[in-house]
Amino acid sequence: MISAIALTSVIVLSACTDSGAPTAEETVAPEAEVSFEAGTTMAALNEAGAITIGTKFDQPLFGQVDASGDPQGFDVEIGKLIAAKLGIPESGINWTETVSANREPFIQSGEVDIVVATYTINDKRKEVISFAGPYYNAGQDILVLAGNPEKITGPEDLAGKPVCTVAGSTSEGNIAKYTDQITALGGYAECLPLLSSGAVVAVTTDNVILAGLAANSAGEFEVVGNPFTEEPYGIGLTKDDTDFRTFINDVLESSFDDGDWAAAWEKTAGAELPLPDPPAVDRY
Ligand code: GLU
Repeated sequence: MISAIALTSVIVLSACTDSGAPTAEETVAPEAEVSFEAGTTMAALNEAGAITIGTKFDQPLFGQVDASGDPQGFDVEIGKLIAAKLGIPESGINWTETVSANREPFIQSGEVDIVVATYTINDKRKEVISFAGPYYNAGQDILVLAGNPEKITGPEDLAGKPVCTVAGSTSEGNIAKYTDQITALGGYAECLPLLSSGAVVAVTTDNVILAGLAANSAGEFEVVGNPFTEEPYGIGLTKDDTDFRTFINDVLESSFDDGDWAAAWEKTAGAELPLPDPPAVDRY
């Protein structure tokens, strides 16, 4: 904790001496002097001074809108980092809500430039979009009522039981191997009333999403804490935009090395979760 606080101060102090100094809320100042090869996505975004980023609006710790309508969370900070390295200030970011089921279509249609939204890299999705990253490795877990009255310790205990998850997520496909009683809604927070009422015995998705929901529940829910899949989080972008993918991978790797990634974690997910080691970027 102490080192992360120190790190953040160093970043803010050093950034303030640049001409493109961050505003009070900016972790990283936008790059003042950047130039990109003509014709690349980076050049187009830099020229526009704007980027549209898809993220979740209802997932505490990773992407959730605050009272003023601004999204907050680790995914949001990763999006800001990428924008800054494109020379785009935070005021140039258009945040668009993406839910699990519309992420690929939003990228394919150009509705968003990138998606940073607890988005698992997998081969099926890679058929229609490309991924930079990963920038975090999650794992699917299970949320239950506090005290775990059904004594659920893993997905096998959910056989034949009613469970809630989200349509279009990897969580939905993974849990279908264990139970056919699945309610698939639009967002994970929508599952919580069903868990409260006993209509389902569990909510299942990535451990870090469940940790955020449990933390906000005033002790009503708990995470089982036995992840049973690997969910490497990537940044979705237009399929085969290799220059842009390479650029984002470079941004991620330098943020792992210079402390920006750790600072982004500490000011968001770090409120509930320990600082992980950065993953290895997959330049497939
Ligand atoms: N990471 C998983 C996925 O990409 C589950 C979380 C989510 O739905 O965003 O589908």
